[in-house]
Amino acid sequence: MGDNLVNFYAGQPPLNRLSFIRPSVDKINALLNAESTRFIAFKDLKPLVQENELGKLVFLDRKAVESRIGDGYMGSGGDSKEAVRTMETYRKPSDNALVFLGIDDRTSARENIETEIQSSEKQVDLANPPGTAFFAVDAGRGAEGEWEISGTQWGDPRSSASSMSGWEAGLFAQARALIDWNTRNRFCPMCGSQTYSLWAGWKRGCITGLEPIPGKEPCPSLEGLHNFAYPRTDPVIIMGILNSAGDKILLGRQAKWPKGMYSCLAGFVEPGESFEDAVRREVMEEAGIEVGPVRYSSSQPWPYPANLMVGCFGRAKDGQRIRFDLDNELEDAQWFDRPTIRSLVSSPTGSKYSEAEIKRLGKLANSGSNHKDDQETANALAPSERKTGEGDAEGDKRGLTRVPPDTAIAGKLIRLWADGGVDLVSRL
Ligand SMILES: [Zn+2]
Repeated sequence: MGDNLVNFYAGQPPLNRLSFIRPSVDKINALLNAESTRFIAFKDLKPLVQENELGKLVFLDRKAVESRIGDGYMGSGGDSKEAVRTMETYRKPSDNALVFLGIDDRTSARENIETEIQSSEKQVDLANPPGTAFFAVDAGRGAEGEWEISGTQWGDPRSSASSMSGWEAGLFAQARALIDWNTRNRFCPMCGSQTYSLWAGWKRGCITGLEPIPGKEPCPSLEGLHNFAYPRTDPVIIMGILNSAGDKILLGRQAKWPKGMYSCLAGFVEPGESFEDAVRREVMEEAGIEVGPVRYSSSQPWPYPANLMVGCFGRAKDGQRIRFDLDNELEDAQWFDRPTIRSLVSSPTGSKYSEAEIKRLGKLANSGSNHKDDQETANALAPSERKTGEGDAEGDKRGLTRVPPDTAIAGKLIRLWADGGVDLVSRL
């Protein structure tokens, strides 16, 4: 059982995605063209934000995005099985990405509750909830994406997100992951042909389904289920490892991290592993520590580009020696006691990082390093509270002075344990 925490990027509350209407071209186009509908835009995966207000998304109306919408979404124009499968709410391969995100039904949800209390006869129409519809639109990359809108700018994704409200951060996370996925998967992994967008941005199909190549066998992707046809979410486990008494936590650091920063150990879940397996494997590989019971705490969407951070706690056996020579990922790892961590998280500087440090961690996460663990552990630091001043370029050394902020799930796990409000050990 989890801790029911709501993490940054998770929506707070999320949009009503109405995923079941994505294949309906009439319903989607009605929302696309509604006066109240709003659009958030990206260029080179950077969000359109207000000038001098990095953390405020710009919500464009239908008229403002006319030049990027083109023909909108097209439909099958027929009821044959083939037409329905290959032409449900689609866009041409040359069209820029346009994604239906969902409806903000918060107001109506509250009204619905009141209505329900007043009259049991009035029911909520879950198929057509009222509210503002949101779409994400891609301006494009580089020169082709040039799009001047006065009073706005294209914001650095991590810096912008770090200043957003929780609700806007959720919208941003969903939109950025989908725009990224659509622009990254323009060719069929099975046959190399172009792909095109289906289901209002939530599916991609091989163009040979629309335009068969004479004399060639149909592309294998046209039959059966294929995970590349749908947006991916890749799980990463982030773990708070405790000693048997639960009064110490294992934190580590990489040499490239900002000075004095320690965080939870972390790693990708590999195929054929459960979360629990991945926690035990990663802690053994990174620190040589054997972990017994593991339990799930909470999770966090992470749109760089499409991860799901899965926060877990685990209990280690006492008396083990920490070692780094198995995978050589960490520069240091230590057991820290609760008073040490508690004083750090209550200190105004205990989770402050300069903009330069955030960017450096972002680069580390996106560097394409061939050591994949470099990427995922850099991910353990989320958009953070910033302070002015340059970061320390030359790493530190082994003195704990900072942990991630609570906008990162690692920071949340550390605080949950440090606050001691939950008896974590007896639940492990
Ligand atoms: Zn194909």
